[in-house]
Amino acid sequence: LEHLRATDPIIADLIEREAQRQRQGLELIASENYTSLAVMEAQGSVLTNKYAEGLPGRRYYGGCEFVDAIEQLAIDRACQLFGTTHANVQPHSGAQANIAVFTALLQPGDTILGMRLDHGGHLTHGSPVNFSGKWYNVQFYGVDPQSGQIDYDDLAAKARAIRPKLITSGASAYPRIIDFARMRQIADEVGALLMADIAHIAGLVAAGEHPSPVGHAHIITTTTHKTLRGPRGGLILMGEEFAKQINSSVFPGTQGGPLMHVIAGKAVAFGEALRPDFKQYAAQIRLNARALAEGLRGQGLTLVSGGTDNHLMLVDLRSTGLTGAQAQRALDKAAITVNKNAIPDDPQPPMKTSGIRIGTPAVTTRGMRESEMAQIAAWIGEVLMYPDDDARLARIASEVADMCRHFPVPADMVQVR
Ligand code: PLP
Repeated sequence: LEHLRATDPIIADLIEREAQRQRQGLELIASENYTSLAVMEAQGSVLTNKYAEGLPGRRYYGGCEFVDAIEQLAIDRACQLFGTTHANVQPHSGAQANIAVFTALLQPGDTILGMRLDHGGHLTHGSPVNFSGKWYNVQFYGVDPQSGQIDYDDLAAKARAIRPKLITSGASAYPRIIDFARMRQIADEVGALLMADIAHIAGLVAAGEHPSPVGHAHIITTTTHKTLRGPRGGLILMGEEFAKQINSSVFPGTQGGPLMHVIAGKAVAFGEALRPDFKQYAAQIRLNARALAEGLRGQGLTLVSGGTDNHLMLVDLRSTGLTGAQAQRALDKAAITVNKNAIPDDPQPPMKTSGIRIGTPAVTTRGMRESEMAQIAAWIGEVLMYPDDDARLARIASEVADMCRHFPVPADMVQVR
């Protein structure tokens, strides 16, 4: 950071402190990860200087020969990775990808059937505080209260009753496999389109660790920065029949110039995900999640749906007497980062919640495995048992830092120290 340190030491200092936090703590936020240095180099490059409205070969600006090649590689690699014929790599984020799809396929006032936010769905799937809930008529499906798993029979009954134009599948806090084939059957029965938002599970899908929605969903959206381990951003995957509509819904419909530095980072990340070691990485994410879930249950904690099939789990804290906010705060003091999260039918408001969401993508990138997960579960159990014992939390934080020293993050290889 030598240039930044010279011109803006305040920002340089804050970045260094954040790098230190990322290095010394356990990152268990299910939607976070550590990108490679190669991704960060692409994203921190001169490409940020370039305007390139349009698509490769059809731009509104001159000087696009190199960014054209980069964006085309990102598109080709995304298609190869997921097995689709078309991809739009320009959405600035997962939310932007969903806005582009909704505005391409729907008119304001049309009916959507989406997963409830407090059952694991995402804000952009119809929450009243989001554009999706404001512009469209949204009805919700959710999980069965006993099993904690999506209630497909109820979903089908709701679809028959309201005949939505679009059904959204995909979630932010759902620990089980999503049955995209079943959802397509339901969509077909009522004449709806099916969108799969695989933001959380994209890396697992790419590696064959979660069934793919390709061939089932009409359109697939995702973020690129969660299990997929790329730069922050969005991606839309589709077949020929929706490509023109979706491309023009991204630009000029809902965005201006694409972020070419981020698109280069996406191309690099897709290239990384095509390599065999990414398959091992994705498999280990799930093994670690299973081990962590087992460890947490061993600590007497309750998990929504009883466990996990993917990269995340939801702890139902009601038996501990703690809210999600209190648990998050205590774990922060022990250098264990999680996020408070609603559990299905949560009696607490969103800023408190009765749950925490825990995921293994980031710790798996550091090289941690099942034995580290057992230790992490023991620390979490201890913190939740003694959330006000600051001396104990400080001791755990130093033990966490000791463990973390053995598992370097990518930034350890440069002088961001
Ligand atoms: N869709 C799902 C299922 C998500 O979990 C998220 C992010 O958490 C998004 C969309 C939005 O992504 P972004 O934060 O990049 O806008």
